Amino acid sequence: MGRERPPLDPVIVADLKREGLLREGHFVFRSGHHSACLLDRDRLLADPGAASHMGYALAKRFFTDHVATVAAPSIWGAGLAQWVGYFLDPKAKVVYATPRNGVPTVAENLGGLIRDRRVLLVDNLIISGQTLTQFAAQLEALGAEVIGIGALWNLNRDATEIGGHPVFGLLNTLYEVHAASHCPLCELGGTPEAVGY
Ligand SMILES: [Zn+2]
Repeated sequence: MGRERPPLDPVIVADLKREGLLREGHFVFRSGHHSACLLDRDRLLADPGAASHMGYALAKRFFTDHVATVAAPSIWGAGLAQWVGYFLDPKAKVVYATPRNGVPTVAENLGGLIRDRRVLLVDNLIISGQTLTQFAAQLEALGAEVIGIGALWNLNRDATEIGGHPVFGLLNTLYEVHAASHCPLCELGGTPEAVGY
């Protein structure tokens, strides 16, 4: 029986490490969860090479889902969404929200790319899932058929779905997010480094 290939090419992971975008160790996030991996979320999408590789890996995961539109709730997700849309075949349209009165809002004249379309939601990191829960509801109110959610990393370890939509985190297959009470790194006696998100 062949072993399933990891969704993220090991060469890409090695690149991320070399560029200092991904660091291994023992970290605690604001949610209280622990992990052996830290992503530099500010610089992550500053490198078009790295961003394109991750966009390709996400597009591959949703390749057979007939995605018409990729939608992002944030500017960070938007950079990634462009690559995901580009690598789907046929290429998907991309819409993203900008804050209006503090709420991520899609411009009204983009409604035609959402109504009755199969929409994939993309963001860089899922932290609590709250942003995507609200964004999915907003798009559904505009008539979208939300088919799933893709992100680089899902730090909300309890969430295999958000708002009823399946969630796929690219790095989750490589780096598990642990409850503080069940962290194997803590069991080895380590003390985690606190992370700003
Ligand atoms: Zn730990």
